[in-house]
This record gives sequence, structure tokens and C-alpha cells, in this order.
Amino acid sequence: MSKRRYFKKREKEKKAALERIKILFKLAKQEFPKHPERAHRYARMINDLVKKVRVRLPKDIKRFICRQCSQLLVPGKNLKVKSSKGFMIYECLNCSNTRKYGYEKEKRDKK
Ligand SMILES: [Zn+2]
Repeated sequence: MSKRRYFKKREKEKKAALERIKILFKLAKQEFPKHPERAHRYARMINDLVKKVRVRLPKDIKRFICRQCSQLLVPGKNLKVKSSKGFMIYECLNCSNTRKYGYEKEKRDKK
């Protein structure tokens, strides 16, 4: 296979994976209230896909899956969000992994 064709195939794979990730994330959010264990399984599937295909997750999904324990994070349930000095701090209440996001950068990213 030529390099170019290989690249094209990878792009297609990534696109397909991203579509799957979006569906899994939607399902996870739907299942969370009644079946949190299912939601976490979906979140784990998303993390596995990300590793396998090396696709970049959209921000609105990335923030709600813990990178450390692969749980679906739901604000007020297992996710604590607080703001401090221009940052948003996301804390996973399952494994206490914290992540920091800046407001400023976000504003600049938006068009
Ligand atoms: Zn966690």
C-alpha cells in the first residue's frame, strides 16, 4: 500500500472512530442515572478507542471522561467543578484525579 493510501485509510478510520465515540458518549449519558456501571463501561470503550485509533477527543467529551479511571464524569455526581484564579478545576471523585482548564484560552479558541 502506498503511503498516501495508508494515510487516507487512517483518516477514514479516525472519522469512523469519532462517530462511534460520539454515539457511545450519548449512550453513556443516557444510561448514567439508572445504570452507572453501564455508563462507565461505555466510557472505558471510548478510552480504548482513543488509544487504539489515536483520535483527538472533542473538548465536550474529553472533559467528562476521567483519563485515569475511565469513568464517565457527571457534575454533581462524581465530578466536582470549581473555579479558582481564572481556572476551572475538574476533580474526579472516584480516583481524585484533578485537571485544570483555563478560561482565557477557551475564549481565544472560540471563533
Ligand atoms: Zn477518575
